[in-house]
Amino acid sequence: MNVGNNNKDIVEDMDNTVKQGQKRGYEELLQGNRDWVQRELNEDPDYFTKLASGQEPDVLWIGCSDSRVPANQVTNTKPGQVFVHRNIANVCVHSDMNMLSVLDYAVNVLKVKHVIVAGHYGCGGVAAALSNKQYGVIDNWLRHIKDVYRLHSNELNRISDEKKKLNRLVELNAMEQVYNLCKTTIVQNAWRERADLEIHGWVIDLGTGLVKDLGVTVKNSDNLDKVFALDKSDIK
Ligand SMILES: [Zn+2]
Repeated sequence: MNVGNNNKDIVEDMDNTVKQGQKRGYEELLQGNRDWVQRELNEDPDYFTKLASGQEPDVLWIGCSDSRVPANQVTNTKPGQVFVHRNIANVCVHSDMNMLSVLDYAVNVLKVKHVIVAGHYGCGGVAAALSNKQYGVIDNWLRHIKDVYRLHSNELNRISDEKKKLNRLVELNAMEQVYNLCKTTIVQNAWRERADLEIHGWVIDLGTGLVKDLGVTVKNSDNLDKVFALDKSDIK
């Protein structure tokens, strides 16, 4: 695998995500909370009474932990509208009980209609996976992205510009995570019961704030590779 260390700057960006002027003191966070509560109450005195009564989100967002890609702000939605799971580089692994629990609850209890895997250009996790540097325990998590690289190495090795290569791997990673979700029993069984569940792949451009829909939306098991297609379960 021909990967270099030229993404060092981007990796260091990951370490310096909180830039000068963006750091907030602990007390400021508490004051920020009070300000937010007051702002919402000014608009709607019953806001928190309604919020506390329950949630009916239509969307599950699986995004990167990066502090620059908050689901609600990116989609201009309010609390209660998006169920959220985030990890480094928006990886969806079928052995991750945390992700599977969120997916199962969102699909089978909340009955969300859209699951969105949202990557972002300049992702430090993907850049780290593209490098040969050790970062510690996270290296094992990032192995999943190196596997994505291996799957698409023919295409990626033809890209000489390191930034373009990173951005393409960000896209391919989001796409592969969409396909990983489709292979789960959770999604396959849900598609047997209802036709209104769609899995989407997005990439957010931090430079513009805009989302790019990768056009890999999956709505059923029809195109699933045969080895991953599971028969209807008899287990009840
Ligand atoms: Zn990221």
